[in-house]
Amino acid sequence: MNLILLGPPGAGKGTQAKLLQQIYGFMHLSTGDMLRAAVAAETEIGLRAKDVMARGELMSDEFMVQITRDRIDQPDCASGIIFDGFPRTVAQAEALDELLTERRLSLDGVVEMVVDDGILINRIMTRAAEQPGGPREDDNDEALKRRLDVYHSQTAPLIDYYRARGKLKSVNGMAAIEGVASEIVDALALNGMA
Ligand code: AMP
Repeated sequence: MNLILLGPPGAGKGTQAKLLQQIYGFMHLSTGDMLRAAVAAETEIGLRAKDVMARGELMSDEFMVQITRDRIDQPDCASGIIFDGFPRTVAQAEALDELLTERRLSLDGVVEMVVDDGILINRIMTRAAEQPGGPREDDNDEALKRRLDVYHSQTAPLIDYYRARGKLKSVNGMAAIEGVASEIVDALALNGMA
């Protein structure tokens, strides 16, 4: 089963993806985590990504499609993928449709996690304060504001994109973690699959 978790920064996509990975064995594919690992390892990709991420801007579609293509071809993705943070633009969504079609894979559902902007800002500031190794470089006021703007202008159009294709399910991302998880399980009819 291949799923997309869609939602603004701080919506809890990573938390829910990790839970789904633990319960169902799908691979949690976070493009943000991949880029942060590259930044930490100071690879060429990391050097390119560092400033873009710190500003809260997006990496190019071409680049993101390329690293996602390489990642989904790894054997550990064969039992299903939970996309977290990809696609983030309509061009990326179109490219993902092609990547999946070429591999005869289906996209089984897209879960939109709905959260008010005010709650997101509080959550991210709490996350920044609690992060063991110090806050993420993009968890600060200015970058966060930019990330939210970018989400609304470039990523939110994906809600209509997937609704038009009959793939979209929306859940209340403001509930407690377990409540959100059970809404996702219901929305995707995952009950009994574990
Ligand atoms: P995330 O952890 O998903 O919030 O991603 C952190 C940052 O990585 C984003 O603010 C972007 O700078 C970059 N990034 C992650 N995924 C993508 C993507 N699909 N397209 C472009 N940039 C991305």
